[in-house]
Amino acid sequence: MTAAEGTGRPLVVAVIGAGPSGIYAAEALTRGGRAVEVAVIDRLPVPFGLVRYGVAPDHHAIRSIRTTLERTLGQPGVAFYGDVTIGRDLAIDELRSCVDAVVYAYGAGADRRLGIPGEDLPGSLAAPEFVAWYCGHPDVHPDAPTGTDPEADRGRAIVELVNTATAAVVVGVGNVALDVARVLAKTADELADTDMAQEVLESLTAKRVTDVHVLGRRGPAYTAFTTKELRELGQLPGLGLVVDPADLELDEASLAAVAADKVAARNVAVLREWAARPAAATSRRVHLHFWTRPVAILGEDRVHGVVLERTAIGPEGLVVGTGETTTLDATLVVRSVGYRGVALPGVPYDAAAGRVPHVGGRVVRDGVVSADEYVTGWIKRGPTGVIGTNRSDAVETVTALLADVDRGVLVPAGHAGQLDRLLTGRGVHALDLPAWRRIDAAEVALGQSQGRSRTTLARRSALLAAAAPDEPAAP
Ligand code: NAP
Repeated sequence: MTAAEGTGRPLVVAVIGAGPSGIYAAEALTRGGRAVEVAVIDRLPVPFGLVRYGVAPDHHAIRSIRTTLERTLGQPGVAFYGDVTIGRDLAIDELRSCVDAVVYAYGAGADRRLGIPGEDLPGSLAAPEFVAWYCGHPDVHPDAPTGTDPEADRGRAIVELVNTATAAVVVGVGNVALDVARVLAKTADELADTDMAQEVLESLTAKRVTDVHVLGRRGPAYTAFTTKELRELGQLPGLGLVVDPADLELDEASLAAVAADKVAARNVAVLREWAARPAAATSRRVHLHFWTRPVAILGEDRVHGVVLERTAIGPEGLVVGTGETTTLDATLVVRSVGYRGVALPGVPYDAAAGRVPHVGGRVVRDGVVSADEYVTGWIKRGPTGVIGTNRSDAVETVTALLADVDRGVLVPAGHAGQLDRLLTGRGVHALDLPAWRRIDAAEVALGQSQGRSRTTLARRSALLAAAAPDEPAAP
């Protein structure tokens, strides 16, 4: 008999973050063979994290993972607590005092910096911000009036940037860079079958981007994107793909990299096929530049260009500049060089790594393994892997948690109902799964009224209005 079964009490766990990593952790907890009560908490009014606010809207199959995630939130013993912010509504220690264990699964919400002049000019956006915009994230679709919230104003400015740019630069050659390049290159008609918020789709209708320049600081043998995503770009009708064949000549190290890595080999093959295509006159083009890095973003009050430097691999195997520079005119720059985890108040954080420190999913607090804190997902391992990677990651963490229960290190202490009492006591009204289902129904109804299968509600006020239960009819 395990310790949990011995006490006869359910194991009460709070998971912070209702994205894929948090929901996979909840799923693993329900499959552990014990009575559990899992509260999946999110600061947003809606669940699904990056599946809703990171996966590109035209990636229908990946976005449909939502259905599986929603099923887990509806399992007995699992409850969704939306619109609850740790650090504002609830301190982490208060949360820990009313559950047996906490699992941090709050992802990596910030961007990595390039560290070059002009990076903060209007017109230079971090990919997480741009992705959040086209996915209809409430943080960048402001309710706040102009001038009252700088973050809201940045969100508002994206519309004008997208509408005025003719040339855009995307820094980085990962899958997010490809998502960004595709959204900038596609016509609004090509995006009309997505669930993009109406205001986003309308902005993209006014878009005038003709050229998207994607920059890889290393050669084509060292791309971070996957071949399926690369090929997808090549299948867009009417889109020219420009690759300099000289960039595709592989040096010795690149040949070794391609020999050792099938994805790299396939990516180079796709790029070679594009480079060999006969030039065709197209009104929209994506240019892939390799051995190229930005060294300065130009502009006084907004971006008007980027200084590019040719790169090479230096004697120590690192990318170095060759000193050969050119200037590219562009008014929109999207820096897609990876996400970065941030600190949550009261939660251990390794600033250098951008992660919560841990051993096999058990959080390390003040140099020792904490008895009741666990971590999973991007805030555990860094911003890598596909959505499914989070499932095995969550299983590792939850296996450690349940082993601690078996070992009697983590003992269910009869916390059932305490979180609800704490929240109610301070007037915090969490949004539950039925509230999400009302939002879901409202998005489907809005979409259908516009000839689409769903339209994302971007504004927080719209989400909260849709979440509210219908008033009972007057007698
Ligand atoms: P990523 O895969 O880590 O790619 C980051 C890119 O930025 C790399 O090309 C990297 O080049 C470059 N970079 C980093 N620092 C740079 C600098 N200072 N200057 C110039 N370039 C720099 O990150 P991501 O694209 O944000 O993706 C995050 C994760 O989500 C990945 O695991 C990705 O596969 C996943 N994802 C998957 C999908 C999908 O499956 N469809 C879609 C989106 C995201 P170096 O290699 O030279 O460092």
